[in-house]
Amino acid sequence: MVILLADAFTADLPKRLEAFGTVSQDLGALGEAEIIVVRSKTKVDKAMIDKAPKLRFVIRGGVGVDTIDVPYAESKNITVVNTPEASSVAVAELAFSMMIALASRITEADSSMKQGKWMKKELERTELMGKTVGFVGIGRIAREVAVRAKAFGMKVIAYDKYVEKSDVAEMMSLEQVYAQADYISLHTPLTDETRGMINAASIAKMKQGVRIVNTCRGQVIVETDVAAALKSGTLGGYAADVYDKEPPEGSPLLSAPNAVFAPHIGASTEENLVRLADCIVDRVKNYAAKK
Ligand code: NAD
Repeated sequence: MVILLADAFTADLPKRLEAFGTVSQDLGALGEAEIIVVRSKTKVDKAMIDKAPKLRFVIRGGVGVDTIDVPYAESKNITVVNTPEASSVAVAELAFSMMIALASRITEADSSMKQGKWMKKELERTELMGKTVGFVGIGRIAREVAVRAKAFGMKVIAYDKYVEKSDVAEMMSLEQVYAQADYISLHTPLTDETRGMINAASIAKMKQGVRIVNTCRGQVIVETDVAAALKSGTLGGYAADVYDKEPPEGSPLLSAPNAVFAPHIGASTEENLVRLADCIVDRVKNYAAKK
């Protein structure tokens, strides 16, 4: 069988998968591929699936399957799996470091120094200790962020439409989280329910000066509303790893104040890429064993 690696993985992955079939990294092999392995870059949409008549198995190395047309794949008897267990710590460390960067104004301190400025008086920091962090979605990644927030002396609260109890957070309604949190960390999947949930109306329910960290999906927020709230000061800060369009060319966020950005690198730690490769080999092995 042909295994198509459509995105970038560890250098040793092709060799490890050769035990199960012919491995290609050329999209030209799509017509022959029985397994396609992707990260978030390659979109497995209808058009792609229609060009892959032998396709039976799609592996998403990572969590979000919003880049794959799962219902269409399933209608064609193609199984879609992800590797949700791999990336939690990698994304959580980025989310938490973004919270620290907002509180300690690290990016402003660094860029002003490099411009030859000495902003000792202007750059007043705040502390995370004693502040409340509110999670929207308390799944695998949020859990890891919550553990780190507790170690910093933060109060941890959360809303999750599908989770009633948590051993790391005090669960409450979305309205209560909006009203109480000094930091809001977003950790839901992108679905019809979560698309655009952070908008002018929801921001109006939050504390004045709240800081939002978004490492889940860009479309969970309305970028124009978040940029306007940053400009008016209603939002005290916004840190993001993910965007409506990637890269976010022309996004109003890029010129908004008190914002910190990363180019969708939440899962891109050396350690996680090794874990992803292990998970992918495992998924292919199980698939091959069932054939
Ligand atoms: P997870 O499935 O463990 O947790 C998601 C949580 O969101 C679940 O507890 C679920 O009940 C909750 N949820 C679903 N719909 C909701 C709603 N309408 N309101 C409130 N909560 C809701 O997933 P995870 O591993 O924690 O990952 C979360 C998301 O992070 C992924 O779906 C993906 O979009 C994103 N992600 C980003 C990166 C990155 O590189 N920045 C990497 C991995 C994952």
